[in-house]
Parts: sequence; structure tokens; C-alpha cells
Amino acid sequence: MQMMKKQRVVIAGGGTAGWMTAAALGKLMGKQLDVTLVESDEIGTVGVGEATIPTLHLYHRLLNINEADMMAATNATFKLGIMFENWRDVGKDYLHSFGFLGKDCWACGFQHFWLKGREMGLASEIGDYCAEHLAAREGRFAALAGQDQNHAYHFDASLYAKFLRGIAETHGVKRIEGKIAEVQQHVYEQQHVNGQQHPQNGFIKALLLESGQLLEGDLFIDCTGFRGLLIEQTLMTGYDDWTHWLPCDSAVAVQTVSTGTPVPYTRSISHPAGWQWRIPLQSRVGNGLVYCSKYLSDMDAKTLLKANVQGEMLTEPRLIKFRTGTRRKHWNKNCIAIGLSSGFLEPLESTSIHLIQRSIIRLLQMMPAGEVIQADVDEFNQQTKIEMENIRDFIILHYKVTERSDSAFWRHCAAMEIPPSLAHRIEMFGEAGKVYKFAQELFGESSWIQVMLGQGLKPKQHHPIVDLMPQSELAQFLANIKTNVARQVQAWPPHYDFVQHYCKSRMM
Ligand SMILES: Cc1cc2nc3c(=O)[nH]c(=O)nc-3n(C[C@H](O)[C@H](O)[C@H](O)COP(=O)(O)OP(=O)(O)OC[C@H]3O[C@@H](n4cnc5c(N)ncnc54)[C@H](O)[C@@H]3O)c2cc1C
Repeated sequence: MQMMKKQRVVIAGGGTAGWMTAAALGKLMGKQLDVTLVESDEIGTVGVGEATIPTLHLYHRLLNINEADMMAATNATFKLGIMFENWRDVGKDYLHSFGFLGKDCWACGFQHFWLKGREMGLASEIGDYCAEHLAAREGRFAALAGQDQNHAYHFDASLYAKFLRGIAETHGVKRIEGKIAEVQQHVYEQQHVNGQQHPQNGFIKALLLESGQLLEGDLFIDCTGFRGLLIEQTLMTGYDDWTHWLPCDSAVAVQTVSTGTPVPYTRSISHPAGWQWRIPLQSRVGNGLVYCSKYLSDMDAKTLLKANVQGEMLTEPRLIKFRTGTRRKHWNKNCIAIGLSSGFLEPLESTSIHLIQRSIIRLLQMMPAGEVIQADVDEFNQQTKIEMENIRDFIILHYKVTERSDSAFWRHCAAMEIPPSLAHRIEMFGEAGKVYKFAQELFGESSWIQVMLGQGLKPKQHHPIVDLMPQSELAQFLANIKTNVARQVQAWPPHYDFVQHYCKSRMM
């Protein structure tokens, strides 16, 4: 039997995107692929990206990663959602948890029963009907054996990349330390059949390192971060700018020592020109101020962040500039952009690592056996586009639907035009409490409901089917769910006790 030649895959960049890709390709297709990763210690990584969402379980399952082991290696804590403080208005907070709300019926979601219950004075806060929500507020956690776990992690991004590097190298991925000086492309001067250009004209041929080493490949994965060295600087793929919808363009990040036990949620605290994150790890806290530079100078942002962190600073505040938007094509010729090179929405809902994982899985599914197939490329790009637009709309929602009017930034957000797809969702919920999710979309009904209600959007009416339920039955229905949730959560230990027992950090 003739042996197939191994495809040569070159990954440019060793941040979270590069090592997540390398670990997956090495572990799952290492026998068929020859994978090399090049990274530059001199350039370094973006150094942020420490909050995740529950979809990361899928990636970990594929790679057979043991949760406790990964968490101990990365100083990780559990995350059950995000607490949005001052987002609806100053002094008004709400939680977007990863859990499902109450119980749906065949015709309508739980929110309709809850809305009627609120009207009649029979229902309490929506979060009382969701275990993850209540547990986050009470600082409790337990791994739910045998159930789909709606939890994610806060971890140290550089330790996570190191952990994945171990897996990748065990499965044969070669790592080269060095700076890429030049990206070389195929140039075919002769015309192909029927006067057409050669189909691989302009495809990437090799990366030339400053050391003089040449890395030739069949497929190139651009994980070089915001620079997009291959996808943009070489292939000039183009970028759709979304700053008119997502105007924050800067962040300052700093790490501090922990001053209390870590809570099982990310804190997102809005301020007059953006918002601030607090991500509690086992031994330290990640902090950052995200802002729009039209409304806050870099200098003032640093001062504001320093004034608002708790605990001694472990690093110097670091400035990061970005432009929200998406690459026009995520796969162009024989180059696939994964991570920040493919676009950036902003970190509000911790979706970047999720998008990295989705691109990796999609790439695995569409991996060419030989030459690149254009139909695969088009499908990859179409699916990525749909996913990014859904996440984009969900993030814009937080800025658009707000009662804050205390600063020019928030007044701008409340008045800005939004994509028609989001306007439609807001209208459907505002008019009659309805939400929906298409197959490829990330955010489910419970997410839309929590954020829409949390931001202050109140439906004018509920689904008529709820009115068929007698009031006493509705009261009983709501009370049963609430009691069960409370009973379940009371049985869970305090989050930090669980962490100490289950996955104590190797850093401590
Ligand atoms: C302010 C902020 C907060 C964020 N918070 C979150 C969050 O909470 N959750 C989340 O999911 N995501 C978050 N993200 C996104 C997250 O940080 C990234 O998705 C993730 O870190 C992946 O980055 P990357 O690997 O694409 O790029 P980088 O980390 O920038 O890595 C780029 C790599 O390319 C290499 N490189 C570049 N040029 C060359 C060259 N010429 N030669 C050789 N090597 C080169 C670098 O050395 C590096 O190894 C955040 C992003 C920002 C900006």
C-alpha cells in the first residue's frame, strides 16, 4: 500500500490560539500531519484572556484533558457567569449565569411564567430559578456528576498555553523559537488550463525566520495575534470594522494579589467610558479597564484602573490597543486565521477562546487530504461569519439597552444604530418576551433573557398560554422550582473550599 505524504502544517504564533491549535492537531491528527509551531519570545503574547465559557469542555473532552489537572496547572478557579455591575444604571447589578432558567413548556419559555408570576406578585428574582445563578451569588460550587456542567474557568493564560504545549509536544508537534522575518508565496508565471491563473498562485510557501531557517508547509495557521502577519500583512484579506457598534478600542491590564477568597464569577463593572474586569484566580486577580479612547485618555485610564483595583499590584499596567471587527475571510488560500488574527469583538462575554476552539474544530472537520478545496474554504468562512455576527449582536446588546445617561459615552451607546438582526431580537423580547437561538449560534435563550432583563428591557406581555394555568397552580409551579434550586445549592460547598480540595494550584 502506498503511504500518503504527511501534510505539513505550520502554525505561526504560540499564544493561546497557537498552542490550542497545536495541541488539537497533534493529539487528534498527529499521525497524518507534520505540525511545526514557531513563536517569538522577543515579541511575546497579548498576555490577557483569562475568563472562559462552558463550551471549552468540548475542546477538553476531545483532547482527553483532565479538568482538575488542568486547573491545578493553571491556577484556575470556576466561573458560573458574569456579574454586570452598574451596566443597567449606576447602582443596578445583575448576573448573566451559564445555567438554564426554570422549566420551559412546549409552547413557550420559562420567562413567560415568570413574567406572569411577577405581575401577580408570585415570583422573586429570575436568578432564584437557576442553580448556577444562585450558586454564583452565594459563592458556592460543586461539580454536578452525570449532568451537563454549566461552568467555565478563570485561568492564567500563559500557564494554559504552557499546559497545552506539553500536550502538543508529547504528540510530536515541533516547536521553534524564532522571529518570522518574511512570508514567502508561490508565484506561478505560467498560466494554468484555459488561460486561468494557477490555482495556487499566491498561496503561502514558506516562513523565513531571522535565523535564516526556512519553514515550508502545505497549510499555514496564522496565530500571530493582532498583527495578522500571514492573513493580513501578506495576503491582504481585509477587515470589517465594527467600531461603530463596539466602540471600545483600548484596555489597560494589571495583575494584583488576592485580597479575599475568589468568587465563582467574573466581575464586569461599567464606568463612564467603558468597563473594568476582575478575574479571580487562586493566587492572584486579573484586572483590566476596557474603554473607548474618544472618551478617556490612556493616561486617565491607567489612573482610573489603579484607583479601582484591590490589593497590591504584581505587574505594571499594560496598554493594549485593538479594533473591533472581523477578518473578511478567516480562511484565505492555504492560510487559516485563528485567534486575534481573525478578528476581535472585545472581551465583555469572554468569547475569544470559544471562537478559537470553534475554528480548530471546524478546521479538523474540513482538513484537506491534499490540495485545498474551495468549497471547504467557503463553508468554513460562512460558518465563522454566522458565529461571529451572533456574538457581536449579543455584546452590542449590553451597550445599547441601558438606562445609563451619565456620560457622553453611554449616551452615544444608547443612541447608536444597531444591526437589524439585533433590533429584531430586541423588538421580539420587548413586545412579547420571545427569544430564539439558531443551531450555530453560541448564546442560548437563557443568556438573552438574563441580559435583556438585566439591562432593563421589560416585555410588554407574556405568552397567552400561561393564562390557562390557574393562579394557584402557577404559584405552586414557581415555588417548586425555587425550592428545588435552593435545596440543591445549599448542598454545595463554598466555591473556594471545593477548589482547594479538587484542584489546588501548583503555584501555591
Ligand atoms: C483586553 C483583552 C482582554 C481579553 N480577555 C479575554 C477573556 O477574558 N476571555 C477570552 O476568551 N479572550 C479574551 N481576550 C482574547 C484573548 O486574549 C485571545 O483570544 C487569546 O489570548 C489568543 O491570542 P492569540 O494567540 O491569537 O495572540 P497572542 O497572544 O498575541 O499571540 C501571538 C503569537 O504570535 C507570535 N508572533 C507574532 N509575530 C511573530 C513573528 N514575526 N515571528 C514569530 N512569532 C510571532 C507571538 O510571539 C505570540 O506567540 C482578550 C483580549 C484582550 C485584548
